[in-house]
Amino acid sequence: MCATVAVDPLAGFLPHSQLPALLHALHETGYRCIGPQARDGAIVFDELQDTADLPWGLIDVQEPGRYRLTEATSRRAFAWANGPQAIKPWVFQAHEPQWTAQRNAQGHIRFEAVHVAPQATAILGVRACDLAALQIQDCHFAGSRERDAAYLARRDHLLLIGIHCARSADTCFCVSTGDGPAIDRGADLILGEIDEGLIVSACSTAARRIFRLLPLERVRPEQWAMLRQEVTNNAGSQRRALPSQDLRNLLYAKLDSPHWSTIAERCLSCGNCTAVCPTCFCHQETDTSTLNGEWVTHAREWDSCFSDQHAHLAGLEIRSEVHLRYRQWLLHKLGTWHEQYGRSGCVGCGRCITWCPVGIDLTEEISAFSSEETST
Ligand code: SF4
Ligand code: SF4
Repeated sequence: MCATVAVDPLAGFLPHSQLPALLHALHETGYRCIGPQARDGAIVFDELQDTADLPWGLIDVQEPGRYRLTEATSRRAFAWANGPQAIKPWVFQAHEPQWTAQRNAQGHIRFEAVHVAPQATAILGVRACDLAALQIQDCHFAGSRERDAAYLARRDHLLLIGIHCARSADTCFCVSTGDGPAIDRGADLILGEIDEGLIVSACSTAARRIFRLLPLERVRPEQWAMLRQEVTNNAGSQRRALPSQDLRNLLYAKLDSPHWSTIAERCLSCGNCTAVCPTCFCHQETDTSTLNGEWVTHAREWDSCFSDQHAHLAGLEIRSEVHLRYRQWLLHKLGTWHEQYGRSGCVGCGRCITWCPVGIDLTEEISAFSSEETST
């Protein structure tokens, strides 16, 4: 992803009044559409039946430990930056049955795998950072070593409709991680929103089919100029940053720093940061049986490196203290992830800052470790 929008000579312009045609084209071509909606005071992704349900005229105000929706000065559908939920739940579900076991009257046990029925799904309004996060999840769930059948069944049937970010939340720092705010890969259709409507580019064969069904107008040069200026200004507006995309050396040198305990004095070990993070993939396996023990469902559930049970290994609790859990999280996210997936596990979405109940900010914690280095 990058900080500026590339001009696409084949793009078309879709006025806001024609947005229902996009939903119609998706339905015509067999997709259900998942899109952003305001619900319980936040932007969430859910099945979109009507473009009137998009969060028209809303923006999000975010800061450490705080998220509010408020009215914007213009009536756009995608003026908000992000919500607590990335698109992760649409490929890696919070609770996913894996197999069932049934014991019959003769005492024989029959195991059956639970298969995900593929469903063509378009996700509208995906941000650059969340596309980057999905590429990381692909490495984990669909890489060459392990290939997760449920993830692949959903992922292979996704049509991703990305949108360039013309506005960042105060907690966003995707420019420093190299993951936004403009989209240059990972999406099938790319949208850029200005006050009058959307500039639409098709980047895949499936997307070109939908593109041809839209009542598009020619994009005027001043519309391109406006979009490019807004996204460039947005990139320049981010106040938070990580100092480097590879923080391994810094963090490996800080394993015994007293600053981990300083963070732990505030950290509640609640796991909110991992639940909202679009790249976190830790999970646990659970078995639920009927009271008579004849039927068992084995499921995979999201877990967090901040939870007690996740720190249990061969009967031992290996991270009994909060500072060890926070260290595990940050060290993995920004350090050892490079060895696993060739990049950091952070895409700069800022969700862990906003949704941390005590407002712990990883960019500030990295600055604190860096200053320790300078002062020693
Ligand atoms: S670590 Fe925080 S900022 Fe980075 S991707 Fe996860 S939630 Fe977003
Ligand atoms: S850093 Fe914040 S969100 Fe994460 S576990 Fe600690 S208190 Fe919870």
